[in-house]
Amino acid sequence: MAGVVIVTGGGRGIGRAVSLGAARRGYSVLVNYAGNAEAAASVVGAIRAAGGTAEAVQGDVAVEADVLRIFEAADRLGQLAALVNNAGILTQKGRVDETNVDQLRRTFDVNVIGSFLCAREAIRRLSTRHGGKGGSIINLTSVAALLGAPGKNVDYAASKGAIDSFTTGLAREVADEMIRVNAIRPGIIDTEIHLSGGDPGRVAEMRAQIPMKREGSAEEVANAVLWLLSDEASYVTGATIAVTGGR
Ligand code: NAP
Repeated sequence: MAGVVIVTGGGRGIGRAVSLGAARRGYSVLVNYAGNAEAAASVVGAIRAAGGTAEAVQGDVAVEADVLRIFEAADRLGQLAALVNNAGILTQKGRVDETNVDQLRRTFDVNVIGSFLCAREAIRRLSTRHGGKGGSIINLTSVAALLGAPGKNVDYAASKGAIDSFTTGLAREVADEMIRVNAIRPGIIDTEIHLSGGDPGRVAEMRAQIPMKREGSAEEVANAVLWLLSDEASYVTGATIAVTGGR
């Protein structure tokens, strides 16, 4: 048995594809969601219908008490094997000189603090230093961290820049504790994040700038996540895989 994987934001988009793919590979899946209970329930239903094990748990990754509750729910499912730090937000677009401080704080709270808190709880369970048996952590960064998203989402890009440094540092910190830490860098992926970021036309608008001339799918990102989770990636840590169609 592959053990338990926690997928934050596992009810929609990339997280949904990761949850379904992980279940197909034998993981018990803890599907975390923030507000969309119906989407998370649909993922859990699909996994159970296929004979797998899954549980949905509401929780805001930016809230420490919620993170503790998410991990307690995972503990009830079995031995933790992996964490996919997927939950992320893209708030309304705007320039830096139009910055709204609440929006800025929320972006960093969810995208950065949330990933740190979840990683902390995962390490406390996985690390040989804490009596664990090892495992894997995957962070979702973005091509925006390299491009900066000027005029639109510099806040989001900077939060993902923090995830890049976090991945490098954490990977080296726990490399000899049997934990591999890696990241996936998606480009333009066809999910609802563009709509919630106030830019519903973004995917169509960006298509021409992508060398492959098309957006990626959530499943194409999930495939890279699942490879990094697997034993096939046993000597890979501190790495970031770009899933960008060449961008
Ligand atoms: P999405 O379709 O908007 O889904 C986001 C998921 O995150 C939802 O399940 C949502 O929960 C959850 N979530 C949001 N805030 C949360 C919070 N505070 N606590 C717990 N869960 C929370 O996004 P996506 O496109 O799949 O993106 C997934 C990850 O990939 C993000 O980290 C994103 O930054 C990154 N990424 C995406 C793209 C892209 O083009 N799509 C590109 C680069 C990087 P509910 O369902 O309950 O709302």
